[in-house]
Amino acid sequence: MNDSEKKSYGSGTRCVQGGYHPKNGEPRQIPIIQSTTFQYASSEEMGKLFDLEASGYFYTRLQNPTNDFVAAKIAELEGGTAAMLTSSGQAANFFALFNICEAGSHVVASSAIYGGTYNLLNVTMRKMGVEVSFVSPDAGEEELQAAFRDNTRAVFGETISNPSLTVLDIEKFARLAHAHGVPLIVDNTFPTPINCQPLRWGADIVTHSTTKYMDGHGVAVGGVIVDGGHFDWMAHAEKFPGLCKPDDSYHGIVYAEKFGMGGAFITKATTQLMRDLGSIQSPQNAFYLNLGLESMHVRMPRHVETAQAVAEFLSGRPEVSYVNYPGLPENRYYDLAKKYMPHGGCGVVAFELKGGKAAAEAFLKALKLAAIETHVADAKTCCLNPATSTHRQLTEAQLKEAGIPAGLIRMSCGLEDAEDLIADFSQALLATH
Ligand SMILES: *Cc1c(COP(=O)(O)O)cnc(C)c1O
Repeated sequence: MNDSEKKSYGSGTRCVQGGYHPKNGEPRQIPIIQSTTFQYASSEEMGKLFDLEASGYFYTRLQNPTNDFVAAKIAELEGGTAAMLTSSGQAANFFALFNICEAGSHVVASSAIYGGTYNLLNVTMRKMGVEVSFVSPDAGEEELQAAFRDNTRAVFGETISNPSLTVLDIEKFARLAHAHGVPLIVDNTFPTPINCQPLRWGADIVTHSTTKYMDGHGVAVGGVIVDGGHFDWMAHAEKFPGLCKPDDSYHGIVYAEKFGMGGAFITKATTQLMRDLGSIQSPQNAFYLNLGLESMHVRMPRHVETAQAVAEFLSGRPEVSYVNYPGLPENRYYDLAKKYMPHGGCGVVAFELKGGKAAAEAFLKALKLAAIETHVADAKTCCLNPATSTHRQLTEAQLKEAGIPAGLIRMSCGLEDAEDLIADFSQALLATH
């Protein structure tokens, strides 16, 4: 596919055929290049790769063709210029931030984010000297302005947050970030590029835990970083010396000059962070991820349709005090969700049982189709009661303070028949009486 073809094809065509374009006699499916290393006839030829004068492969810790095909497909889906796979979603978010932050930097992050990312920012990156200010995604512009400092280097949020299902006002956050000369990084795991493309709304970098809907079958942990290619690093060179000043650990290269706005971010993340921290996705896992991507455009509408039906069913049940799903008109994020995700957001629904912890336990025990798992965004429906699992160390009072009612259930609607799931939930709700 040439560039204009890439732009004209729809998401479905990109899911199936993006990223990999075999020539005569080459494998139709993306091959698994299960090799740690790549051979060359002369050291001069290999030397050009080390000098970044030629592109090619020499060691899988930095780059592998299987991974690059899959990353290129995801870049096409998000409308980005470059992408890299990582070993997990955690690694993707860490690399995306650490590529432009260092000791002494500061990050403004939405407080409605995945627990693992919250810990990454609040514990581990603080230990590394990176400061963070958490802000409510719903705060007004004035309050958000006040969170910025001279040393702020990035703004971070999730399109639809896991698990609170908060919808980020991407345009508002992008406007604020850009007014302060820094990029907006958005974790787009829950909607996937099928339902939302944050780069088109002003975000600069997109990340994913590919472990979730992109894989979609619960087989491989992975992550991806996509660069939108529209953040002008050189215009804010004093803030981003790593991209705009010579890299002494890489022959004095200036990434933003040599690779331009479209390539600098991912090239630096590869040559510095992958080189030094080595969190590559295995080519085998990239292959599994690609199988998931090939049907993502077919699966996502089904996840959304089922979640909407489940949310509406639960709303009408006397055992349920509250249903949190942005597709319900009474949800506080309904309008934002409609704007950024007109075809729906994701398959995860959260709801609270009136009977608290005891009701939650009885409900989960009675389920026949939905399994209890620490997972979401899978073909198989799964659920969790945070109070008795992920947050079980907290007392009832602490749970209340954290905004996690004891009777809260997080339900990730899979690809089973919606009628069967609803029948299952219906009998399990009766078991809570
Ligand atoms: C799961 C998840 C992560 C972490 O991804 P892993 O692949 O488990 O490391 C990050 N962000 C979001 C929104 C997630 O749901």
